[in-house]
Amino acid sequence: MSERLQAPRGTFDVLPDQAAARDAVAHQAQELLEAAGYRRIETPAFEPTELFARGVGEATDIVSKEMYSFDDGGGRSLTLRPEGTAPVCRAYAQHGMHKEPQPVKLWYWSPFFRRERAQAGRYRQFWQVGAEALGSEDPASDAELIVLLHTLLEQIGARELRLRLSSLGSPTTRAEYRGELQAHLRAHADRLAQDVRERIEVNPLRAFDSDHPGTREVMADAPRLVDRLGDQDAEHFAQVRRLLDVAGVAYEVDGTLVRGLDYYTRTVFEFTSDALGAQSGVGGGGRYDGLVEALGGPATPGVGFAAGVERMLLAASEQPAAAAPIELFVALDEGAVRERAFEVLLEARRAGLRAEMELAGRSLKGQLKQADRLGARLVAILGADGAQLRDMASSEQEPVEARTLAAAALRRLREGA
Ligand code: ATP
Ligand code: MG
Repeated sequence: MSERLQAPRGTFDVLPDQAAARDAVAHQAQELLEAAGYRRIETPAFEPTELFARGVGEATDIVSKEMYSFDDGGGRSLTLRPEGTAPVCRAYAQHGMHKEPQPVKLWYWSPFFRRERAQAGRYRQFWQVGAEALGSEDPASDAELIVLLHTLLEQIGARELRLRLSSLGSPTTRAEYRGELQAHLRAHADRLAQDVRERIEVNPLRAFDSDHPGTREVMADAPRLVDRLGDQDAEHFAQVRRLLDVAGVAYEVDGTLVRGLDYYTRTVFEFTSDALGAQSGVGGGGRYDGLVEALGGPATPGVGFAAGVERMLLAASEQPAAAAPIELFVALDEGAVRERAFEVLLEARRAGLRAEMELAGRSLKGQLKQADRLGARLVAILGADGAQLRDMASSEQEPVEARTLAAAALRRLREGA
C-alpha cells in the first residue's frame, strides 16, 4: 500500500455538500452585482510578481511575506495572485477600458493564494467575491459598493456584523501624517513591540493593527490620519457618510482602521463579524485613486471591495440552500433492457427533468432506497414486460408505456407542483 496523499496544509477540498452552499452565495452575489451594473471579469491565477510589488506595496504583509512566487523557467518571476484589485486594474489599463464610458464596473469570484499561518478562517488558498468601480471619484460609488457588500452579507444571513469606516486622505496628506506618526512612535519606542519598532521606517501605519499591550497604549494617543484630512478629502468623506446614512447602513468611524494594502486613498472600510473568532474580517475595501496610474495606465480613480467567501459562510447562521433534488430515478427490474432505460433517462433530461438512472447494480429494493436518498419524487421502473411509474410519496404505481415515460413523469410533476 502506498502512503495516502493529502491536500497541502492550509488548503481545503470543496466537497459537494459545501459546494451547494457556496454556489448559492455565488448566485446571490451575481444577481445583486449584475443588477447594479457590475460585469464579471476573470484574470489569470498568476501574474508577474512586479504587479503586486508595485500595486499592493513592497512593505505590506502580503508582498513582504505572504506571496507564492516562482520562476517561470525563463528567469521571470511570477506570483499566484494574493488579491484581485491589482490584476483588475492591470486588465483595465491593458485593454484600454478607460476609453469606455466611465465608470467601468467589474466583479469577480476567484481563488487567491497567500502563504499564511493556517488556522480556522485563514487558508493558503481561499476565495473572494469582489467588485471594483473604475473611473469615478464620486462618493456615491464608494457608498454604492459598501451598500452592495452590506446587502450581500445580510442576504446570506451573516451574523453580528459591524462596519468600520475611515478615510486615508490623499497621498500628500498621508506622507505628512506618516512623518508625524513616525515621530510619535520614535518618542515612545521603548514601549513598542519589537516588530512594530523595526517597522517604524517601512510601515508605521501597521502599528495600529498590533495586539501588543504596550503598543496599543502608545497607539491610543497617536495622531489620527482622519483628523488631518485636507478640505476636499474631508468633504468627500462627509459625503460618503451622508450617503450611508441615507441608505440606512450603520457604521463607526474608526481612525485606527488601516487596510493591508498600500494603494488606498480616501475611503477605507471593513466589515467584521463578532460571530467569528480571531479571524473576524469578513470583507473590506476602499478607494485607490493612484493604482491604475502606478501600474502604467492613465490616471484613473477607483474603489472596490473584496470579501472572503469562507468567512462569509462561517459568519452565516444557516448555510445557504443546497441544490434541488432529483425528480426522476430510472430503476431496472429483472429483465429490463439497459439501452431502453438509458433512452428513458435521456428523454427525461431532454424534457427538462433532473434525472438519474441506476448505475450500481442494486436490487429493485436497493434502487428504491437509493431513489429515496436522492429525494426523487418519481421512479420509473423498467421490467421485462413494460414499465411502471412510482410516486415515492404515496408509493402508488401505475403502468406506463416506456415510450411515453418521460412525458408521463413530466405531467405527474406538474400536477403535483
Ligand atoms: P486579515 O486581517 O484577516 O488578514 P486582510 O486584511 O489580509 O484580512 P484583505 O486582503 O482585505 O484581508 O482580504 C479581504 C477578505 O478576504 C478578508 O476580509 C477575509 O474575509 C478574506 N481573507 C483574507 N485572507 C484570507 C485567508 N488567508 N483565508 C481566508 N480568507 C481570507
Ligand atoms: Mg491578511
